[in-house]
Amino acid sequence: MVIQNKHLAQVYADVEKRNPGEKEYLQAVLEVLGSLSVVADKRPDLVDAGIFDRIVEPERLIRFRISWVDDKGKVHVNIGYRVQYNSAIGPYKGGIRFHPSVSASVIKFLGFEQTFKNSLTGLPMGGGKGGSDFDPKGKSDNEIMRFCQSFMTELAKHIGPDTDVPAGDIGVGAREIGYMFGQYKRLRNEFTGVLTGKGLTYGGSLARTQATGYGACYFTNEMLASKGESFKDKVVVISGSGNVALYACEKVYELGGKVVAMSDSNGYVYDENGIDFALMKQLKEVERGRVSEYPNRVPTAKYFEGCSNIWSVKCDIALPCATQNELDGDAARTLVKNGVIAVAEGANMPSTLEAVEVFLEAGILFGPAKAANAGGVATSGLEMTQNSMRLSWTFEEVDEKLKAIMKGIYKSASKAAEEYGCKGNLVAGANIAGFLKVAEAMKAQGVSY
Ligand code: NDP
Repeated sequence: MVIQNKHLAQVYADVEKRNPGEKEYLQAVLEVLGSLSVVADKRPDLVDAGIFDRIVEPERLIRFRISWVDDKGKVHVNIGYRVQYNSAIGPYKGGIRFHPSVSASVIKFLGFEQTFKNSLTGLPMGGGKGGSDFDPKGKSDNEIMRFCQSFMTELAKHIGPDTDVPAGDIGVGAREIGYMFGQYKRLRNEFTGVLTGKGLTYGGSLARTQATGYGACYFTNEMLASKGESFKDKVVVISGSGNVALYACEKVYELGGKVVAMSDSNGYVYDENGIDFALMKQLKEVERGRVSEYPNRVPTAKYFEGCSNIWSVKCDIALPCATQNELDGDAARTLVKNGVIAVAEGANMPSTLEAVEVFLEAGILFGPAKAANAGGVATSGLEMTQNSMRLSWTFEEVDEKLKAIMKGIYKSASKAAEEYGCKGNLVAGANIAGFLKVAEAMKAQGVSY
């Protein structure tokens, strides 16, 4: 990808120099700056205010040691991170990821993306992200609890309901949020909405669990409607089988489509009759099992080793909902050759830069992560509102608000794309719309950070 505007090309060169080898972070910055050239050309005031130079540098990156003891009494050490990326439009907000691949680069890329995503939701939330290289797989509940408590013992010094409000992400679901919330409360002796994704008995919001997957489908529905299409009778492939993937699967069925393949990091399962949502949910969410076990219960289903091969399955709609860079240029070409009409990113940055170019050149409908998967953080924003008001909305109320927010995001991204001369390009549209709100706020607040 080439950055046309000279000033932005220099900003990117500086980022490269300051963050050597941070490939995920550099990829995310390059993708955003690539589409902001038209903004820099049109808005010299933002260039003069140093907005582009400042927005690519996190306000703060905290790195810390997490020591914890396993069930056999052995001491382990992991690294924890919290990036407080940008607070121009609200308190830092973004999930926590527990996965061995977590590094400063991964956390910074996620925090950078989060800043624009949160802006797109229209809610007052800044950008943040956090996590650890801790691997929750194979750990007992007690080990998970001790790890979460140790993680929060440090994190609690840096967060608060008006400062920074973390949530879940890969490897962090309701169980982990519960343990972290309990530890925060114990340390601070206060009951506040400091985390979102909480359980329903202690301040969580109905529909938060479903929100990212549902939201990705609502967004896809808007894209499809722009071409007079819908999910009805469409064949859908979804990568992953975690929180986002599962609830995307449920919503696809509700909207009239059929999900024929899902995966985990080892492989994927295919059933031309359609994946049974209730069974997959039981296997993954309740039993914490593997996708490879699914065919033991459904004889028509077949399991294939290797998760990336899922993109060779012929489909009308593809929803990558697992992890970053899981869909490369070759996979994108295969999807296009097989007649895909829409791709929407449930995961963060699941498509490589090359894959995105393939989709845009082929002229298929493409929903980038910061727009398509913003339903999760938007509903986290609604959880914060409910916590502040000390009341709870019904599932239907939250779902209606989520739907309206996803429609709004689609509208702002497509409007910005049109205004800046790239009609139909939602990658550029989402970057521009998300950026402009943060940029105006930063300009109005002067050069502080
Ligand atoms: P989960 O931990 O619930 O599920 C992650 C899924 O992706 C699992 O099926 C996992 O398989 C698979 N996966 C993880 N790493 C890899 C890998 N390297 N290769 C292939 N598959 C992999 O996470 P979520 O569903 O919450 O998150 C999925 C994506 O969505 C992430 O990119 C996250 O940042 C993004 N997202 C999540 C939001 C949320 O509300 N949860 C909000 C917005 C974005 P396995 O079990 O084998 O590891």
